[in-house]
Amino acid sequence: MKRAFYIGRFQPFHLGHYSIICSIAKEVDEVVIGIGSAQKSHDPENPFTAGERVLMIRHALEDANVKHYAIPIEDLQRNAVWVSHIISMSPPFNVVYSNNPLVIQLFKEANIDVRQPPMFNRKGYSGTEIRKMMIEGNEWRQLVPPAVAEVIDEIGGVERLRNVSMKDIE
Ligand code: ATP
Ligand code: MG
Repeated sequence: MKRAFYIGRFQPFHLGHYSIICSIAKEVDEVVIGIGSAQKSHDPENPFTAGERVLMIRHALEDANVKHYAIPIEDLQRNAVWVSHIISMSPPFNVVYSNNPLVIQLFKEANIDVRQPPMFNRKGYSGTEIRKMMIEGNEWRQLVPPAVAEVIDEIGGVERLRNVSMKDIE
């Protein structure tokens, strides 16, 4: 059984993440998806809770037939022991997919096989850009899987993001 590990914050889970995970799934039997900064929510960079992100990922990957486990992982603020922290929380995996230099460095130092997946339309498919569009009232729905847009509507995600991004009312 070959299992891959892939980590992101998924604020929100967008089509870049979706495309990467579908391509990883062609190379392995199962994908473990680490949901980073799991303790964070209700702030402008991290509007959604870990549970809401689990929901987005589950519904988005349902139709794609990708066997996966989404595992929330809290920040440790201690890079030297971060890989052990991941391993302690995750189903066992044989290979890591990442384009993040720190993630690559830490897993390589732990002698874990790391592969770099290609980027998919990085300009449009970016969490930062999508959150900006939500705040400014621009059309963001085409940048996420349809199931993710449904989850965001269900939880009132856009209104929440706007509210937590505002300054004090004076
Ligand atoms: P943010 O702007 O909030 O950081 P993001 O789009 O970078 O959001 P993350 O949750 O930080 O999303 O991403 C997790 C991983 O997914 C990162 O390592 C990043 O390299 C990768 N990723 C993000 N967007 C794409 C994309 N369009 N194509 C391929 N990989 C992507
Ligand atoms: Mg990022």
